[in-house]
Amino acid sequence: MLDGVKSLAKGMGTTLKALAEPRDTYPYPEKRREYSPRFRGKHMLAKDEEGHELCVGCGLCEAVCPAHAIRVVAAEAPGDEPVSWTSRYAVDYEVDLIRCIFCGMCEEACPTNAVRLTPFNELAAYSREDMIADKEELLRPAIRK
Ligand code: SF4
Ligand code: SF4
Repeated sequence: MLDGVKSLAKGMGTTLKALAEPRDTYPYPEKRREYSPRFRGKHMLAKDEEGHELCVGCGLCEAVCPAHAIRVVAAEAPGDEPVSWTSRYAVDYEVDLIRCIFCGMCEEACPTNAVRLTPFNELAAYSREDMIADKEELLRPAIRK
């Protein structure tokens, strides 16, 4: 009986001590942890100051990607309404965020600084298809709520 009370008191002591210690977890999403400035999250496709797409559809990002996560389809830009800053652009651009290992090689390889990895890391979806970011989505960089 006495041993039981002693064990209970010891257990309560451990619990109370732990309660006074700083928490190792965050009450997400109300509070989010800080990440390194070098953190690599979801991609974005950048535009220049005039709103022209920087991507010229060269396919270098697709070629260097070790996870085969990028698909680029290039085309000649329509002459009357320039899409990119030059005559070529990516008519289709996709990143499979399930395959991606966020190595940053696409960003390194891009000659026009078009594809960039942002700090956005809230990647969740109900289907595999929803984890494929298309060009329209990548041109609208995700923002944390
Ligand atoms: S970050 Fe790496 S794995 Fe992901 S798309 Fe770019 S090159 Fe591929
Ligand atoms: S994002 Fe950069 S590397 Fe990839 S196709 Fe466009 S211009 Fe080329």
